[in-house]
Amino acid sequence: LAAKLKNPDLLVTEALVGETWVSAAQAGKSFDVLNPSTGEVIASLPDLGVEETRTAIDAAYIAQKDWAKKTGKERSAIMRKFHDLMVANVDDLGAILTAEMGKPLAEGKGEILYGAGFIEWFAEEAKRVYGDTIPGHQADKRIVVIKQPVGVVASITPWNFPNAMIARKLGPALAVGCAFVAKPAAETPLSALVMAKLAEEAGVPKGLFSVITSKSSAAIGQEFCSNDKVRKLTFTGSTEVGRILMRQSADQIKKTSMELGGNAPFIVFDDADLDAAVEGAMISKYRNNGQTCVCANRIYVQAGVYDAFAEKLAIAVGKMKIGDGFEEGVTTGPLISDAAVDKVIEHIEDAKTKGAKVLTGGTRHDLGGTFFQPTILTGVTRDMQVAHDETFGPVAPLFKFDTVEDVIEQANDTIFGLASYFYANDLTRVWRVAEALEYGMVGVNTGLISTEVAPFGGVKQSGQGREGSKYGCDDYLEIKYICMGGI
Ligand code: ADP
Repeated sequence: LAAKLKNPDLLVTEALVGETWVSAAQAGKSFDVLNPSTGEVIASLPDLGVEETRTAIDAAYIAQKDWAKKTGKERSAIMRKFHDLMVANVDDLGAILTAEMGKPLAEGKGEILYGAGFIEWFAEEAKRVYGDTIPGHQADKRIVVIKQPVGVVASITPWNFPNAMIARKLGPALAVGCAFVAKPAAETPLSALVMAKLAEEAGVPKGLFSVITSKSSAAIGQEFCSNDKVRKLTFTGSTEVGRILMRQSADQIKKTSMELGGNAPFIVFDDADLDAAVEGAMISKYRNNGQTCVCANRIYVQAGVYDAFAEKLAIAVGKMKIGDGFEEGVTTGPLISDAAVDKVIEHIEDAKTKGAKVLTGGTRHDLGGTFFQPTILTGVTRDMQVAHDETFGPVAPLFKFDTVEDVIEQANDTIFGLASYFYANDLTRVWRVAEALEYGMVGVNTGLISTEVAPFGGVKQSGQGREGSKYGCDDYLEIKYICMGGI
């Protein structure tokens, strides 16, 4: 991998524990990071544990005090530099991301710019952490509301967006004056480590931002939840693990932000522009090979346009190019792991057994490994696993529906409530459906909704809190009410 980089020093293989970079040799334990496309080992990293996590938290606790004392403008300037370094090194950061995660290089680079966008946005917001004045309730009283950083923030993130999932949390945390201890997914820690290196270069003070590389997520998660110096836990991952972390956080009433699983409905009404709907479905379903929490998981198509939509979608899928992320023209990489392939196969087989037809794909790709054919299933019904479970892979199950009421009921029939999408043109229908969907986010006539300027987050068991936008700082701030009397 180093040979592919303009600056090989960006392939960082030491973890940042407080003020100190720690090598695998120093840690005495290591684990390998693999390229999911080739199975090659691309790095061997320190496998850290609870002790190093405590060291990082202690350093963060101290560093946070001074960081919070800086003006918003001072923090902003350092973050701006951090953003600029990410952008200046986009080619190398993209290559590192593609090597450890598998997505095509263009998407890898796209993610770096997307992630950098959060650092930039929150750098700007650092100057706008406004409080409030409230007319006093008694003649001699004056009421002021200020906002203060929560303190040390611990973060646990998944492998599907190794840069952006951290950037979305790190941006607001640093902006408002928090310290940050990150535990990236063991599959994709290199993208996190290079962020720490660039942050250091940009002038982020020592100890303020640590990256703990480890295979022992549960032990580190436990430490994050039980260490009283950690005031907030921010997590992106499965609802299952989110539940564990919330339970563990209960003892200390620790603040949490949870970006959990989704089961996004994608609805195509008969008044939709079908070509636009196909384009949206392609992005929403197959981006990142179906491995995003906002990926369309259930595609509902109104009866009158069902066959036409299926046909057009199959043509679009036929144009996808599966392969190694570094290969020119490749649109889709491998799945992250064998377990991910197993889940995809399980969902397809379950649907087939219950009467679904495979319109295209349906099996592993000739390339072997964890490559899988993009798949479309027709005749899908709500008794099938795909109707309830997030597939997290390249399977588009097409459900047929008749009425608006019927599809709203089906779309909302899930414990999840993250993203939803629909294509329609009738104005009344657009408003009614947008309001009726029990989701944190609704894409109307678009399959791509993520941006740093909008609030990303879910309702129901998809989580709590919002990332990005003017609301994004709130998760990292406490409100303090100051009552001044005797005036
Ligand atoms: P995914 O399917 O996306 O990997 P997970 O929820 O399993 O979703 O994992 C998301 C992150 O949570 C990863 O970094 C993983 O290592 C971590 N993780 C998994 N189990 C636990 C746990 N019990 N406590 C803390 N972190 C965990």
